[in-house]
Amino acid sequence: MRKNKTKKKAVKALNYDLFRIDKHAPPAPATLYTEIREHAERTTVYTPPEPEATVATPLPEVAELYLRYDQFNWLYFRGRLPQVRIEYSGRMMSAGSYDRRAKLIKVGRKYHEIFPGELNDTLKHEMIHIIHYNHSAAFKAEAARIGASVKASLHPALSRPPRYIYGCPQCGMEYPRQKRLVMSSCGKCSPGGRFDARYKLRLLRSKKRGI
Ligand SMILES: [Zn+2]
Ligand SMILES: [Zn+2]
Repeated sequence: MRKNKTKKKAVKALNYDLFRIDKHAPPAPATLYTEIREHAERTTVYTPPEPEATVATPLPEVAELYLRYDQFNWLYFRGRLPQVRIEYSGRMMSAGSYDRRAKLIKVGRKYHEIFPGELNDTLKHEMIHIIHYNHSAAFKAEAARIGASVKASLHPALSRPPRYIYGCPQCGMEYPRQKRLVMSSCGKCSPGGRFDARYKLRLLRSKKRGI
């Protein structure tokens, strides 16, 4: 009986020792292969982002320009600007102009086909010209107040033709652009202003490739 107890004690001590030895044992030296494997587990493979699907909007109708004029008039001028005529000019190379005698704002079609994002800016700029005819200090102060730019009348990029011309396979609408459109659909045809693969714009002409 006593002998058995001693044996158990000895086994216990042995277990304990084994346990301790195991715990304090240094980790196995990392081999090149384990390093490579661990690195691969840590690193996620780079996947390039999907091109963003966009809708290329054609220039708004003149009626829309009048609406925006009214909006800006109330927003920035307390509705005090007089009613003026607004029209697109197909020949004008500049962004816009204001004719004091005719009380007419002209919006350059070519310019905004290439820089569609600047349309509101142009409208606001020409609206200031109703009050300040020249780009005077007073004009600049107004431009700063309402967040319009004091731009040169002719954008340097306009002396070059657009680099890319895209077209809608459905309606034939052309979209001249200085930058590449990766995944854009026609704004006239895409329902709800959302990208629609059926109306994805195709590259018709490119200056680089010369097609
Ligand atoms: Zn101006
Ligand atoms: Zn279309």
